[in-house]
Amino acid sequence: MASSRKKHPIYKEVEIIDAGAEGKAVAKVDDLVIFVPYGAPGDIVDIQITKKKRAYIEGRIVHYHEYSTKRTDPFCEHFGLCGGCKWQHLPYKEQLFYKQKQVEDNLTRIGKLDIPKLLPIIASVDARYYRNKLEFTFSNRKWLIDKPTDGRPPQMNALGFHIPGLFDRIVDIDHCYLQPDPSNDIRLEIKKFALENDYSFYDVRKWSGLLRNVIIRTTTTGDLMVIVVFHVKDANKINALMDFVAGRFPEITSLMFVVNPKKNDTIFDLDIQLFKGKPYIVEQMPPYRKDDKDLKFKIGPVSFFQTNTLQAIQLYRVALDFANLSGNEIVYDLYSGTGTIANYIAGHAFRVVGVESITSAIDDARENAVFNNINNTSFFAGDIVKVLSDDFINENGRPDVIITDPPRAGMHPKVVQQMCSIAPDRIVYISCNPATQARDIAMMTENYLIEKIQPVDMFPHTHHVENVCLLKKK
Ligand code: SAH
Repeated sequence: MASSRKKHPIYKEVEIIDAGAEGKAVAKVDDLVIFVPYGAPGDIVDIQITKKKRAYIEGRIVHYHEYSTKRTDPFCEHFGLCGGCKWQHLPYKEQLFYKQKQVEDNLTRIGKLDIPKLLPIIASVDARYYRNKLEFTFSNRKWLIDKPTDGRPPQMNALGFHIPGLFDRIVDIDHCYLQPDPSNDIRLEIKKFALENDYSFYDVRKWSGLLRNVIIRTTTTGDLMVIVVFHVKDANKINALMDFVAGRFPEITSLMFVVNPKKNDTIFDLDIQLFKGKPYIVEQMPPYRKDDKDLKFKIGPVSFFQTNTLQAIQLYRVALDFANLSGNEIVYDLYSGTGTIANYIAGHAFRVVGVESITSAIDDARENAVFNNINNTSFFAGDIVKVLSDDFINENGRPDVIITDPPRAGMHPKVVQQMCSIAPDRIVYISCNPATQARDIAMMTENYLIEKIQPVDMFPHTHHVENVCLLKKK
């Protein structure tokens, strides 16, 4: 079956049987599991093995014998090159199926957990233009698709996204389907101005050039933030570009720039200048109960906010449904970020305590509590492993409910142990990585039962899936 090319073999006429492993499709040859990008379950393909690790094998499709009937035509011209939406070759309905399956497989296979039937995954309200934040990169090393045929040197400046795995190559983006208007226009107009006026694009190998990044943040309220990141302080050129953007897009409510002379891309540690408008944008969330007031969130240039606002609303509603609050409970919101969940549920609890490691996020959380006249939330900055001590519980009260929303790595085993010994009646575990969620919950089965499981899709056309589990004390 296998023939040899270079060192690694090619497997012929293999069926793709699954999708989901970090976005890759899955094929099986005898007992070997092979991960291949851009496959669709049902494809019959030849696979060139590219990498052999102890736990898995990676390959690349080199020939299609049969295309899966599940396939659809990707709608974006940048599909396959840009790393953004790797599942566009699957119809949205199929994506949802495989996301749900990924959650179920992780809980049962990795966690070896006894689980109730999953609630059907909540689809994204918008499958396109759903992101409220994008960051584009300027580069003088455009990924060339077609070389000019007239012998002239190609135009190498680009504004777009990194090619996966290549830190210095940028796909020049024409139209991106991720962020609503006027995101595309803003990016294209800035690029056009820069090219016409001979602004230099960043060279990431030489650490030179003027233009580095553009960050665009949109809201459902119509607020719009644009931050242009420059590499050097060329006041005349900076002012000319910012004036142009302000004049061309009067709808921008927060126009900012920052000079980043460092080698890394972070801007939270830099002096971000407000060029025009307000220093923040405001996002709004309809309340859980009809008669409550809308919640408003101030978002500064470096504040975290869930990137799919309409799905964040659905996710928080699930969390609150699962928490099943009567109004008398003490609730802990762990890994609270900017306190959006804590402030969202505050009206339904006696007291909410948020814990988060990033101090500026805690500042945002407190500011948003004040902004919404909420006075029963308190926020603490620190590493949860250290903060969640017996003294802390004595001071802040033993929680009836813990809502936890850790990053992809999941929770530290000590945090899991501490949660079990605090023994709240209910734990609502929100996760962006069902593998680590399954691992963590497996450590709690002596004390907790999984009562409900609700996957939520926040990122259409990617393999990412959010999952909420309700754990009930035995
Ligand atoms: N609940 C938030 C998002 C949380 S994302 C929301 O809905 O907006 C996960 C958060 O965990 C991040 O803000 C990250 O800074 C924080 N975090 C990661 N490790 C942590 C740790 N060990 N202790 C405290 N917070 C941590």
